[in-house]
Amino acid sequence: MYPSRFGYESPKTVEEAVALLDAHGGEAKVLAGGQSLVPMLRLRFAAPEMLVDINGIDGLRYHRVDADGTIRIGALCRHEDLEEDDAVAKAVPTIAAAAPLVADPIVRTRGTFVGSVCHADPQGDWAATMTALGGHIVAQGPKGKRDIPIAEFVIGPFQNTLAFNEIAVEAVIPAPKGVRIGNYLKLERRVGDFATASVAVALDMVGDTVADAGIALAGVGGRTINANEAASALIGKKLTAENIASVAAAVAAVAEPRTDHRGSADYKRQIVKTFVERILTGLLNTSQKAA
Ligand SMILES: Cc1cc2nc3c(=O)[nH]c(=O)nc-3n(C[C@H](O)[C@H](O)[C@H](O)COP(=O)(O)OP(=O)(O)OC[C@H]3O[C@@H](n4cnc5c(N)ncnc54)[C@H](O)[C@@H]3O)c2cc1C
Repeated sequence: MYPSRFGYESPKTVEEAVALLDAHGGEAKVLAGGQSLVPMLRLRFAAPEMLVDINGIDGLRYHRVDADGTIRIGALCRHEDLEEDDAVAKAVPTIAAAAPLVADPIVRTRGTFVGSVCHADPQGDWAATMTALGGHIVAQGPKGKRDIPIAEFVIGPFQNTLAFNEIAVEAVIPAPKGVRIGNYLKLERRVGDFATASVAVALDMVGDTVADAGIALAGVGGRTINANEAASALIGKKLTAENIASVAAAVAAVAEPRTDHRGSADYKRQIVKTFVERILTGLLNTSQKAA
């Protein structure tokens, strides 16, 4: 199928891009890596009258770790930029673990972290990772910038809370309270596939005590599943076999899997439980060895 007819603009500044979105009153779409939007155009799931291509805007392809440990990821930071960066890997192990599991190497050269979070695919790896890590999206519109906490940003399947005339210019992950550890496990039918079920875990540790905890899931619901409330049972405690088992059961209970060609709902819920246990037990064993 061919896309419907659309116009194309390649602005040179964020302000110009915002003005274009504003002028088209909801009928324009931002084009970042195009790895989700172009397939949607071809399938006519999206039919905007205008594409606003932000790839010609200088200064949006960056990611950095600030002195206090805050991570900043610009709108044009590609998946592969995160995969290849040792500083990010050290600062946020959950990102390091997820990066090589997003799609395939070709998609990873073009697709962007921020675009993926904006796309809010229930099976998307970055929306789940960022939900576990917390933080916010910096949105820029005609009246300037505002911060949108990630829990208020990804609100449904393919739905975020940007206004039609706003661009997500940056994703910000807060500095850790202590030492940040974490992991990401994904079950996929074959390499490069979307998640059958995946689990993102991020813990901030002070000594052997959990100071903050986040868990989120992809592929097991009609939206990214925020399991941070279940994870919060770990806060103020040491990791033990008992609390790992009870958090794994609580996280599996908030999953909303459906039976489909990837597996039954029960199977996917069991995968979630097993992955949470496997990740937390691995983190416990690693921290015991380091002590
Ligand atoms: C073969 C294939 C396999 C894939 N497998 C996976 C996978 O396993 N896991 C996974 O998570 N993803 C997967 N993807 C999706 C891929 O990760 C996309 O790159 C990502 O979902 C979207 O990022 P993008 O930069 O390509 O965004 P685009 O496709 O350009 O845009 C996606 C949507 O977000 C909006 N948008 C993008 N950037 C902004 C912005 N800065 N401000 C406001 N709105 C914005 C667009 O308007 C559009 O609605 C796959 C894609 C393909 C083609």
